[in-house]
Amino acid sequence: MRKKIIAGNWKMNLNLAEAEDLVKGVASGLQTRNISENLKVIIAPSHPYLFTVNTFIPGSQSHFFHLSAQDCSINKSGAFTGDVAASMLKNVGCDFTLVGHSERRKYQKESNEELVEKVKQAFDNNLKVIFCCGETIEERKAEKHFEVIENQLETVFSELEGNLENFVIAYEPVWAIGTGETATPQQAQEVHKFIRGLLSNKFGNKVAEEMSILYGGSCKPTNASDLFAQADIDGGLIGGASLKAESFLGIIDAMLNEIA
Ligand code: PEP
Repeated sequence: MRKKIIAGNWKMNLNLAEAEDLVKGVASGLQTRNISENLKVIIAPSHPYLFTVNTFIPGSQSHFFHLSAQDCSINKSGAFTGDVAASMLKNVGCDFTLVGHSERRKYQKESNEELVEKVKQAFDNNLKVIFCCGETIEERKAEKHFEVIENQLETVFSELEGNLENFVIAYEPVWAIGTGETATPQQAQEVHKFIRGLLSNKFGNKVAEEMSILYGGSCKPTNASDLFAQADIDGGLIGGASLKAESFLGIIDAMLNEIA
């Protein structure tokens, strides 16, 4: 069975005390659940909180509960004021980093070529990557979503040889992020199946069948089960609903029910 993943993207939210409370709340909720061997839980706090938040992930949960960054630099080290190197993220306890979130593509104008450099930096520093892709509402209305997603993925696919097991894809339709408007399970499944087809063409069926593809975009406890029931949806990248332990745990429960 493919790895199932529930990842929380905290974005630029919370003060330090709130971040501590949240990780503690998630950890104590996980303590009372029977976590399947096949599930990974990931949280992505903002950079200044990573070190501290990591200290609240219990050692007994560290085989399934992981820390992720929200981004990493394209550079290795040096005079890049404000950047955070992948090696630094590894140093403070990250196992993963997000790359290519649509908010960074939009506000930081990150190009597909830059994102490839970030992926390389991550792999060079033993970080696994959750690589985000997805179309805008205009692109979907123009029925260009498959083309857009293929473009976003094809540049990065050329860098994956040797690191296929360290790569996770998150399909996040931009029109569903933070809007309350979720893709229907059928819309999401259609794209996930398409992405798995791209993987199969490029790397063969075995790799395509083994790679986890997450859905992101207004996923919450009330719609998670229907999304996770789809054949090619292997979990979620969760924004708003990951900021409260109760709703994040509710989404984890939806996945645990699906796995059971
Ligand atoms: C995200 O930012 O990755 C996301 C999916 O946000 P939300 O769940 O709030 O739509």
